[in-house]
Amino acid sequence: MQEACIFLEQKVWDKLQEVTDPEITSVSLVEMGMIDGVEVDGGKVTVKLLPTYVGCPALHMMENDVITSVSTIEEIDEVNVILVKNPIWTSDRITAEGREKLKEFGIAPPPLESKQEGVWEVECPYCSSPRVVLDNLFGPTACRSIFYCNKCKNPFEAIKPV
Ligand SMILES: [Zn+2]
Repeated sequence: MQEACIFLEQKVWDKLQEVTDPEITSVSLVEMGMIDGVEVDGGKVTVKLLPTYVGCPALHMMENDVITSVSTIEEIDEVNVILVKNPIWTSDRITAEGREKLKEFGIAPPPLESKQEGVWEVECPYCSSPRVVLDNLFGPTACRSIFYCNKCKNPFEAIKPV
C-alpha cells in the first residue's frame, strides 16, 4: 500500500511537470518552484500550489490546468488544489532547469542574490550582457518587467526577484 502511494505520487509529479504557466509555456510549475507538495490518499490527491505573485491573473488557469492534467491519471478520482501562502514563493525556488528554460524563452531569470541591497542585477537572456536598462517596470503582467539590452539591442522580459 505504502509503495503504491509513492508510485502514484511520482505519477502526479510527472503530470505536474507537463503543466506550465500559460504565459511562459516552456517552464513547468514544478520548475518554477510553485508546487509545494503532493499528498496522495487512496484515489484522492491534494496538490499544494504556491502562487508566485498575488493577483497574477494566470493563477486560476493554472489551478484548472493542474486539476485537468492530474485527473487524467487512471487511479485518481479526485484532485484538490490548495493555494498555499506559507511558505511564500520566492524567486530562488525556480530550479536550475527552470532558469535555463526561462532564458531560452527570452526571459531573464531573477538574480540568485543581489550583491547590493535594492539593486537588481539582470543579464540579457540572449547575449548575457549586463549592459541592460529597465524600460518599463510594469511588463505585460505584474510578475515581469521589460528591459532593453544595450549590447544586442533586444528588448526582453525579466522576472522580478522576490
Ligand atoms: Zn543582449
